[in-house]
Amino acid sequence: MAKRKKGEDKDMGKVAIYPGSFDPITYGHIDVVERALEIFDKVIIAIAENEEKRPLFSVEERLQMVKAFFKDTPKVLVDSFKGLLVDYVAKTNAIVILRGLRATSDFEYEFHMASMNRSLNTHLDTLFMMTSKDYFFVSSRTIKEVAKLGGGVEGLVPDLVVRRLKEKFKLPVTKKKQIGWDD
Ligand code: ADP
Repeated sequence: MAKRKKGEDKDMGKVAIYPGSFDPITYGHIDVVERALEIFDKVIIAIAENEEKRPLFSVEERLQMVKAFFKDTPKVLVDSFKGLLVDYVAKTNAIVILRGLRATSDFEYEFHMASMNRSLNTHLDTLFMMTSKDYFFVSSRTIKEVAKLGGGVEGLVPDLVVRRLKEKFKLPVTKKKQIGWDD
């Protein structure tokens, strides 16, 4: 009898793992997940616990925001991991690592990481999904920079994330004042 391929679990189907910092999750990430769900039966969002990156949000806070967004999407599982990604992937039934690409500047880093992961586990491939035109300029880093200075990030991150950013930066959680020419 043919052995079932890893990642083709009879309950889970084809599984992709989407690792990252998600500090915080943006609609750029969410767009990648939603498009991946057209190809895979399940996507595991794996939040990296990497204190060296000095994240703004704790791993618990990041988990809570991602879980809240996908609470009605059973095809998305949310987890966190420490250490080597390949070791974490080995504990799941994922067949592929999913990553997003925004600009050529992402490419070099992603190319090195994908090559390193493949050298650590020759069966593990990385699938890249090109960003959408609406989110090519969206990164967690710029979202944090803009939010810290009081700029509006509505529409680029879920509402819950907008609120959490305001709480973090101690900004008032109020409605935006419309400023007209006469003001
Ligand atoms: P990391 O610290 O691992 O890069 P990030 O949370 O910044 O974690 O990003 C996780 C993945 O999502 C990366 O592959 C990144 O290129 C991708 N990504 C982030 N923002 C976008 C976006 N706006 N469009 C497409 N992919 C994105």
